[in-house]
Amino acid sequence: MSSTAALIVAAGRGERAGSGAPKQFREVAGRPLLRWSVDLLLRHKAIDTVQVVISPDQRAAYQAATRDLSLPPPIFGGAERRNSVRNGLEALSRQSPTYVLIHDAARPLATPALVDRVIGALRAGAEAAVPMIEVADTLKRRTGGGHWQTLPRDSLRRAQTPQGFLFDKILAGHQTHPNADVTDDMAIAELAGMRIAAVDGEESNLKVTKPEDFVIAERLLATGGSETRTGMGFDAHRFVAGDHVWLCGVKIAHAQSLEGHSDADAGLHALTDAILGALGAGDIGQHFPPTDERWRGARSSSFLAHAASLVRDARATIVHCDITLICEAPKIGPHRDAMRKRIAEILGLDMGRVSVKATTTEGMGFVGREEGLAAQAVATIRFA
Ligand code: MG
Repeated sequence: MSSTAALIVAAGRGERAGSGAPKQFREVAGRPLLRWSVDLLLRHKAIDTVQVVISPDQRAAYQAATRDLSLPPPIFGGAERRNSVRNGLEALSRQSPTYVLIHDAARPLATPALVDRVIGALRAGAEAAVPMIEVADTLKRRTGGGHWQTLPRDSLRRAQTPQGFLFDKILAGHQTHPNADVTDDMAIAELAGMRIAAVDGEESNLKVTKPEDFVIAERLLATGGSETRTGMGFDAHRFVAGDHVWLCGVKIAHAQSLEGHSDADAGLHALTDAILGALGAGDIGQHFPPTDERWRGARSSSFLAHAASLVRDARATIVHCDITLICEAPKIGPHRDAMRKRIAEILGLDMGRVSVKATTTEGMGFVGREEGLAAQAVATIRFA
C-alpha cells in the first residue's frame, strides 16, 4: 500500500508582504493564510499525514491557527526554505511515506483537483510531478543602459506548488544538495536527475507575496476561489378545501389550501431539497419522513433551517438560491419580497442572495387546471 504525506512550508518571515505578523498567519477571508492549505491537504482523501514546518518563534500563532485540528506537532525550519523542507522531510522519514507533496503556505488557493493531478502523475510512475503554467506575457531582460532584450518564452513555464515527489528520492536529493541555492523543490529534483512530469497548474493558484496579493487572495477566497456546488429541487402539492396556503414561508389567504403532511409549503420544500442536493445529503423525505408523526403539520421553515444547519456543519456557505413558483393562483407578485425576506431570515442570508420568481403553465396540465401548484429551486453552495 502506498502512502502519501504532505509537507507545508510555513517557516518564512514574509518580509515582502508588509509589516505585522508573518504573512502565513495573517487572516485572509476569515482564516490565517496557512489554514487554507492545511484544510485543503488534511481533507484530501489521498493524503495520510499533513506536517507543517514553522519557525520556532511562530509556535503561538501556529497553535492559534490549528488548535481545533489533529495534526502532528510542527517541525521547526531553518534559515532558508531548503533547510525547512529538509527538516520536514527528515521528520516524515520515520513514517516512510511513498510520496510526499510539498506545498507553500503562501498558496491558499490550490484546489483538490490540482492535488489529484499531482498525485495521479506520481501514481502513474513519475518521480516528480509539478503544476506548471505556460507564460502568456512577453518576457524581457534588462541589459542595461536603457536597453532590453526579448526572451523566447515557448519553452518556459511557471512552476507552482504543491509539488509531488517519490519520498525517498526527494529526501536523498535534499541531503545530497544541502546548499543548493533553490527556490523550490523541483530544482532539487532537477539536480538529482529525477524524471519530472508537468501537470496543469491553475492561474488562480496565486502565491501571496506582496501586499496587493492579499487583496486578490481575499477576493478569490471570499467569492468562490474554493469549490462551488449547485443543487436543484422540485415539489408539487395538491389544492384541497381551505382558506390559506403557505408559500416560501409566508401565509397567504386563498380560496383553497395545499394538502400535505406538513404545512405543504412547496416553495420551501423545493429549496430544502436543492440545498440537500448541493450537499449530497439525500432529500427532504429522508430527513423528515412523511410517515413520522413528529412532522405532521410541521412548519416547513424548520426543514429549511435544518438544511441550513447541515450547510454550516459542512463548513460551507449558501451563496445564492433561486425559487420558481409555478401556479395560476394565488398571485405571487404582492408577496415576493416578503417571501425573499423570510427565506433570507431562515437561512441567515442577505435578501439580495434570495430570488423568488413565479410563472404559470398557460392553463396546461395540473397547474393549469388548478389541481395544485409546483415549485422549483436551485441552491448554490460554496465549500471553503
Ligand atoms: Mg412537499
